[in-house]
Amino acid sequence: MERRAIDVHGTVQGVGFRPFVHALATRLGLAGFVTNTGSAVSIEIEGDRDALNAFERDLRTSAPTLAHIESVTVRSVAPVGEPGFQIAVSRTAGVVALSIPADVATCAACLVELFDPTDRRYRYPFTTCSDCGPRLTIVTGAPYDRAQTTMVGFAMCDACRREYTNPSDRRFHAETIACPACGPRLQALDPSRRVVDGDPLAVAAALIRAGGIVALKGLGGFHLACDAANSDSVAALRTRKHRDEKPFAIMLRDLHAVRDLCAVSDRECELLASPARPIVLLRRRTPRSAEIAPSVAPDVDRLGVMLPYTPTHHLLVDLIGDRPLVMTSGNRSDEPIATDNDDARSRLAGIADLFLVHDRAIHVRCDDSVVEDMGSSTLFVRRSRGYVPAPVRLPVEIDEPVLAVGGQLKNTFAIARGHHAYLSHHIGDLDDLRALAAYERDIELFQSLLAVRPQVIAYDLHPDYASTRLALESDARVRVAVQHHHAHVASCIAEHGLDGPVIGIAWDGAGWGTDECVWGGEFLVGDCRRVERAAHLRYVPLPGGDRATREPWRMAFSHALDAGIDPFVAVPASIPKAAASIVRQMIERGTNAPLASSVGRLFDAVASFAGVRHISTYEGQAAMQLQALASERGDTGTYEFDVEPGTPRRVDTRPLIRAIVADVVAGRAPSVIARRFHSTLAAAAVRVCEDIRTARRLNTVVLTGGVFANAVLSVEVTRRLACEGFEVYRHRTVPPGDGGLSLGQLAVAAAVMKEGR
Ligand code: ZN
Ligand code: ZN
Ligand code: FE
Repeated sequence: MERRAIDVHGTVQGVGFRPFVHALATRLGLAGFVTNTGSAVSIEIEGDRDALNAFERDLRTSAPTLAHIESVTVRSVAPVGEPGFQIAVSRTAGVVALSIPADVATCAACLVELFDPTDRRYRYPFTTCSDCGPRLTIVTGAPYDRAQTTMVGFAMCDACRREYTNPSDRRFHAETIACPACGPRLQALDPSRRVVDGDPLAVAAALIRAGGIVALKGLGGFHLACDAANSDSVAALRTRKHRDEKPFAIMLRDLHAVRDLCAVSDRECELLASPARPIVLLRRRTPRSAEIAPSVAPDVDRLGVMLPYTPTHHLLVDLIGDRPLVMTSGNRSDEPIATDNDDARSRLAGIADLFLVHDRAIHVRCDDSVVEDMGSSTLFVRRSRGYVPAPVRLPVEIDEPVLAVGGQLKNTFAIARGHHAYLSHHIGDLDDLRALAAYERDIELFQSLLAVRPQVIAYDLHPDYASTRLALESDARVRVAVQHHHAHVASCIAEHGLDGPVIGIAWDGAGWGTDECVWGGEFLVGDCRRVERAAHLRYVPLPGGDRATREPWRMAFSHALDAGIDPFVAVPASIPKAAASIVRQMIERGTNAPLASSVGRLFDAVASFAGVRHISTYEGQAAMQLQALASERGDTGTYEFDVEPGTPRRVDTRPLIRAIVADVVAGRAPSVIARRFHSTLAAAAVRVCEDIRTARRLNTVVLTGGVFANAVLSVEVTRRLACEGFEVYRHRTVPPGDGGLSLGQLAVAAAVMKEGR
């Protein structure tokens, strides 16, 4: 007889790991116990040597699909001779690892039960098992046990208890176990909060088919749903939600429906059907998918598509039949999505005709993730539900925990402990007080889940970010200010575990520069510890600051003036001359016209010159339209540009602006201009990188910043650089935009701390 103590680290809680261990031990006739310790699953196992060896082997090779084993440690202990094998009560002492898995889409086995009239969970909208269901969104503490979730208030019925305690059942120790007798329930409420009679799902489905709008409580928040083929419904949703043109995501019943509407690759199908069930940006089939109202996603070539991921979704699409559903976040314009029933009813009053709610509370707000397939890698536009809180592995182990507070827009925060960076779900724009409150609360939650209180805090240099204020007001021992684009570059370096200096191309809308100008067209050379600004786009004034971001014509005006062209020629008829005169004064007097090297704003200027868009109704709209136009064309050559020598070098945009205006005057199609502009940026990137390579002997390039969420540009820059022999890295785990900033801040802080010792 031998006895071994085995610790298993990784994502091993909430994934059916203890039941799996129990089943394995029982099958091999072994005695002992298994328990969650918070930081690991701990096993003590006793029996003869062959059986113990078989146990150790199978532990690694046949673990549940959702489990991710990072390490297994084994030591011998003295046999105690207990009779059988048990799952022991969780022990929470000691260091806690955040081994809580992300929320998981309904699994195949649960789906079968959902539509089986003889099953006791037939059409039950909260059917889950050890392999699927809510996880992070219902967690209130660690370790992952029913008592530390919002399921705590639902006492199991006898039938559920039997499954929960039966080692051979799929729901053995499934913490989210529930059934119609004991679990959460759906309710349909009208806008005046009265319960609507009848089956809530049938009521909702009928309303959607009749053209109504339903607020639907999901995993991480409320959605607003309506018939995507009904242009009146979509128009009503836009008006009520105050969302003019920003694309809505849609939900389709299955992959067949997706293939009818969009051109999809095998990889895209895999992403759509993965347990994370993100929104996948897909190319529509031409002619523009007639089954979808044009107002769902006006003027862009991608459609955000997802498949059902909760039993409620499955039941709803089943009742609605082959109609596509708009499934957009349950909020008014840019607020955070509603999660609480009362909050939803007050905030979505006047938008939804019906509320489909339930009594399982959402503790962590978690938006849908958004991804795009880039052929060899996945581009994360937003990394949230289904992916968070899976950690990103850091290239070096850090000695003490670090908190990175992220940026201001598309905020995520991150905590580093040991070898791992835990990035938060998408918090959103911290300008919003609700988002800010959730931000502070969720930082607390992550700290308690990880059982750390970081004394090192990393933040952006921008003095007006709410995240910066939080960092400066904290009582952390060490505060590390990180320049915005340095953080972007470090984020990509950390993600790929790169060693040594790189050329970092960091292109985005805006970030605070060390010279207090607005940066956003940067070539930085260095590593996580420090960077040097090797080159940047020529500075032009940003007339009106934030307003210039919303009004692309202002950037066209500014660039025209800069390039020595009569700027009034570029002003569209829709803009009053007086407004243009004020902009001219701002620029000439330098009042409220900070200098900017932003590629994002250059996109705006070009969109306005090309007549594509003069006023944006959502962030990045002009650039997305240019991208859509560019993808309609093959190669159309490049425009002129200059790289001026010096430290730093400057990419002169004036020849480019003059050539674009000449193309406009010559009546060239906007798609040709858009394509040439993309190619010009790519060519400029290559030219500058070649200069840097000659001077610094560097051959590795990372592409980062929100501009690289533009797949057309990202692919072309990568291709052109690779042709010249550069080794090119782009983001594949975290977003290139500000959602990935917190990872970079962590990496910089870790490097600073390391050097400080
Ligand atoms: Zn399941
Ligand atoms: Zn039950
Ligand atoms: Fe940025």
